[in-house]
Amino acid sequence: MPEGHVVHVDARRFGQRLRGHTVRASSPQGRFAAGAAALDGRRLTAAEAYGKHLFLRFGGRSGPPLLHVHLGLIGGWNWYDGSGELLAGRRFRGPDDSAVRLRLRAGRGAAVVTAELRGAMLCELIDMEHAAMIHTRLGPDPIRGNADSRRGWERLHRSSAALGTLLLRQDVVAGAGLIWRCEAPFAAHIDPRRPGRAVTEIEWQAIWAALQTMMRAAVRRGGAERTTRSEHRASWGDELYLFRRGGEPCRVCGTPIESQQMGGRLVWWCPSCQPY
Ligand SMILES: [Zn+2]
Repeated sequence: MPEGHVVHVDARRFGQRLRGHTVRASSPQGRFAAGAAALDGRRLTAAEAYGKHLFLRFGGRSGPPLLHVHLGLIGGWNWYDGSGELLAGRRFRGPDDSAVRLRLRAGRGAAVVTAELRGAMLCELIDMEHAAMIHTRLGPDPIRGNADSRRGWERLHRSSAALGTLLLRQDVVAGAGLIWRCEAPFAAHIDPRRPGRAVTEIEWQAIWAALQTMMRAAVRRGGAERTTRSEHRASWGDELYLFRRGGEPCRVCGTPIESQQMGGRLVWWCPSCQPY
């Protein structure tokens, strides 16, 4: 599932490549035909991510001002240049217009840029009040500069659920997913099975700081997730500490990494580095 940093990378790409441009919008698949017609010919004025939600704002008066997209489990944006060369996203075999929910295109000649949306859980036009309601439901987003981490703490420290489960809840941390719920507790030296109410406020601040550092770095890298610190790179390379490494030695202490199901998906931890 695309995590929040991927959506922030999408928002940056829209900001850099299409903001200020009048876009041609279409829905080759047909499922968003009315929405695309309402966007066609309007100017993209702003692109913003909040957690896993992307908001694209359009000028003009012909419809609701915001396009709201949630990628869900398998959604993603593909970017192409004027010659059809893939700039970013996944490569698909052959033409597959039947899967393109929304195509946005701007520019002329060689400067044409195209963004195509496939497989999204949500793609809808909404007004500002609806967007404000979505923002209110979400917890703080570690990538956003104005995030108030205490809002996440208020929800986390009252819960008996495991830390690793709580970090997936979007009203606790907006944008965190399966990777960060492993890597952030590792950086903060806390077992992800520990109940939220047994996490101290100082520990929460360490988890939050780790989320900010890791997720913002992933945005700067264009979406690539890495957490290994410089002192461990010489022996281990530039990779993640725990994610999908069950049974392998911890990159810090060598203890075999453990895993179990948590919230329907695997979570990994080092039993030596992360006390319960
Ligand atoms: Zn360890």
